[in-house]
Amino acid sequence: MSFRPGIFVRCARGLCPDCAAPLPGGLTGLLGAPARCPACGMGLRRGGGFFLGAIVWSYGLIAFGALPLIGAAFLTGLVGAQAASRLAVAAVLLLPVLLNGLSWRLWLGTYYGFLPEQLPSSGRRADD
Ligand SMILES: [Zn+2]
Repeated sequence: MSFRPGIFVRCARGLCPDCAAPLPGGLTGLLGAPARCPACGMGLRRGGGFFLGAIVWSYGLIAFGALPLIGAAFLTGLVGAQAASRLAVAAVLLLPVLLNGLSWRLWLGTYYGFLPEQLPSSGRRADD
């Protein structure tokens, strides 16, 4: 198994993993990835728990990105304990919604970056 970074970057930029057409919503779409690519018809929201990958990305971005920054702000004295607590609660409640589109795109890039043979241009049915 080899990783194809070009597919990952394409998805992270908000483009279809297969045909590179821009996906609706770009990087900030709150609803995540559309069900299908409007250009090639590739199914982007696959069944069977496929969405769990986007949740993992969202968790990772918050747990290993936002919360350590808030902790560092507290430890360096930029914010007090109460403000840091409020920021952490706000981050945990709001960031999953705000990062949903980005998380989906990173997940699609991860999945198809590692499994490019799953792309319709590699032989998989576009409606699968
Ligand atoms: Zn496409």
